Amino acid sequence: MTSASRPATVFFGCFVLARLCAGESISVEGYESGLQRHFQFIADEVWRIAKETFRIKPPLDLPIVCRYGASGPVTRLDDWIHPSRIEIGISTVGPYDSQFVYQLGHELGHVMLNPRRSNALIEAIATAVSYEVLDQLSEKWKTKAPFEYARVHADEFRKYRERAEREAISRAQPLLQQVIAEQDWEIAGAYLADHMRDFELTEKGMKSQPARDWQSLAAIVFRAAKTDWPRLARCAVPEPGLELGFRYQDAGPCQYGMLR
Ligand SMILES: [Zn+2]
Repeated sequence: MTSASRPATVFFGCFVLARLCAGESISVEGYESGLQRHFQFIADEVWRIAKETFRIKPPLDLPIVCRYGASGPVTRLDDWIHPSRIEIGISTVGPYDSQFVYQLGHELGHVMLNPRRSNALIEAIATAVSYEVLDQLSEKWKTKAPFEYARVHADEFRKYRERAEREAISRAQPLLQQVIAEQDWEIAGAYLADHMRDFELTEKGMKSQPARDWQSLAAIVFRAAKTDWPRLARCAVPEPGLELGFRYQDAGPCQYGMLR
């Protein structure tokens, strides 16, 4: 390389680095330094899996900051109209990797589906992202763990997902339990679509146990039926207006009929 071309190369390198760091990066803050480094490593893995799974660009090209938040898992924008960053709150207090992955996977699902949007279907897709990242990380760390401790405990991610699914299924109606046991995903999806009202799927009730169960059961159906992830991402249209009232409107052309 000539000395004349070196500054241009350095400049290009800095430019690429700045581009990579400017948008879509995730940083973990607010934890004790050892745990923060550990969670940062996991957060980078979870974010990579979420993007690779959806195979789309996140609708908002903004840096993501993930912090401990006592009020529970949540995704917010620092400014609703002119956001400069996406803020994720995680309620994991200690080194509980599976819970951290579960919560962060769900919230990064919201990032991929547009943080300004929410409704029961989007919540269910975000829960499917949780289950997916738990399984993918479990598989990866069995053979390519960053350190020995992680490899030994890699299976914990998958078990955490199985436990969450089992609990939701145990509270379902016997008929739905039977259909799931028979792996008839078409009927299970149709049942969930037809019985939405039984699950308190209103804006207010979105965090109720029945609503969470519906989201979990729908997530099971999406994954079992191998629903195409880019297609699931399209359920976030129409894009929300900037008024808060748009946030919870139904999911456009997909509606809940997509479960059928
Ligand atoms: Zn959510």
